[in-house]
Amino acid sequence: MRDNQLLIYNSLSRQKELFKPVHPGRVGMYVCGPTVYGDGHLGHARPAITFDVVFRYLTHLGYKVRYVRNITDVGHLEHDADSGEDKIAKKARLEQLEPMEVVQHYLNRYHKAMDALNVIPPSIEPHASGHIIEQIEYIKKILEAGYAYESEGSVYFDVPKYNADHHYGKLSGRNIDELLSTTRDLDGQQEKRNPADFALWKKASPEHIMRWPSPWSDGFPGWHLECSTMGEKYLGTPFDIHGGGMDLKFPHHECEIAQSVAHNGHDSVRYWMHNNMITIEGQKMGKSLGNFITLDEFFSGSHPKLKQAYSPMVIRFFILQAHYRGTVDFSNEALQASEKALQRMLDGYRRLKSLKADNGGAPLADSELESLEKRMYEAMDDDLNTPIVIAALFDACSVVNNINDGRTSATAAQIERLQGLFDTFLVDILGIQTGAEGGDAADMKPYEGAVDLLLEMRSKAKADKDWTTSDMIRDRLAALGFDVKDTKNGFEWSVK
Ligand code: ZN
Repeated sequence: MRDNQLLIYNSLSRQKELFKPVHPGRVGMYVCGPTVYGDGHLGHARPAITFDVVFRYLTHLGYKVRYVRNITDVGHLEHDADSGEDKIAKKARLEQLEPMEVVQHYLNRYHKAMDALNVIPPSIEPHASGHIIEQIEYIKKILEAGYAYESEGSVYFDVPKYNADHHYGKLSGRNIDELLSTTRDLDGQQEKRNPADFALWKKASPEHIMRWPSPWSDGFPGWHLECSTMGEKYLGTPFDIHGGGMDLKFPHHECEIAQSVAHNGHDSVRYWMHNNMITIEGQKMGKSLGNFITLDEFFSGSHPKLKQAYSPMVIRFFILQAHYRGTVDFSNEALQASEKALQRMLDGYRRLKSLKADNGGAPLADSELESLEKRMYEAMDDDLNTPIVIAALFDACSVVNNINDGRTSATAAQIERLQGLFDTFLVDILGIQTGAEGGDAADMKPYEGAVDLLLEMRSKAKADKDWTTSDMIRDRLAALGFDVKDTKNGFEWSVK
């Protein structure tokens, strides 16, 4: 295991802290997953990729990581603007589907998009709907502790009572006094003692399909509750990392902290991590703005705002070119620039495989490779600074090009070390797939080997002056989409 020097920015303390897991050698990480209803869109891609890199890096450092990402499928989140009806339930009713069919349909689409983005599936993906009993038990304990009350078959968290004993608002920095004094003339809030109180259990209205029995009513759990319950069930308390998008800090994560403290007497989370948001041409994404672009639309280029299709790896690379706490603004220009940059990186990676050792030129200093590796580790250890890692990888590409051009001479061991840097940082940690068709590097190896073999046969044919064979191999490869170049040292190929 590598010496741990990882600094993580903790949203709670608002500073970078040396990462120290609760249990040596093991890490528990919980990330708020998607609300199932809705198309997999760009907003889903950023937390998934951000925490995929956290997962990959912690694993690389030698930790045994248990990564939990929930599926919000109880369907209390997105309510139809007109009827107030739960959206999963509405779609189920209109299309005569069982609600879980609707959930599964969207979940399959989400998983497909995540696979395309090379996001490693989490260790556990629990459904809120599969943990109703645990949530009911959790509510009972909060009631016993005196931080919740029952009202008309629903159960609410008592924010003023909690705030008198603890600090409600410490994560988001919200001013609680303002929150508590808000006027209470909002519709449907009569059941609550204070507008800031939030639901732990909601009594279902007659048309609400997704409902479960409880001591209080037939109903469904409040949204914030599933994350406290499932996080503690699978990771224990306290656990190490809780992540999600910045938009979840309030109320979602603030409420989670309050629930855990009320339930356990202490916080359940050591490090709160939040990725920043995505804008499109400077604007927030939203259906009404006409800039709500799904991941499938990015991959196919089918949205009117897109000038072309962008491969999943371009989207991934583009997101990682920014630090996760910085904003990312999508535009065709920015994506096209990323596409070119990624191509340059992948050209360097492929060229690496055909480098010849001791090929003339000034000898490469070992210290140059050492300093590249050091820069990459230091960047990852500094709160996962992926843009710096990418800059160092581009410098490594320059080293590759110099060796390839015969300006620098490298030993076989140095070439192997250079290959190791790319395999570790570009492939394993940043999760960039280097194969032409999006297969990962290991999958592509046999095919790359086969192309190399054909080109070696062509070199032999040329040496034997067998022009018919050498031309045939070149032309047939070109027809298949390979770009073959003769170089000083033999050949080089890429996929057009
Ligand atoms: Zn959550």
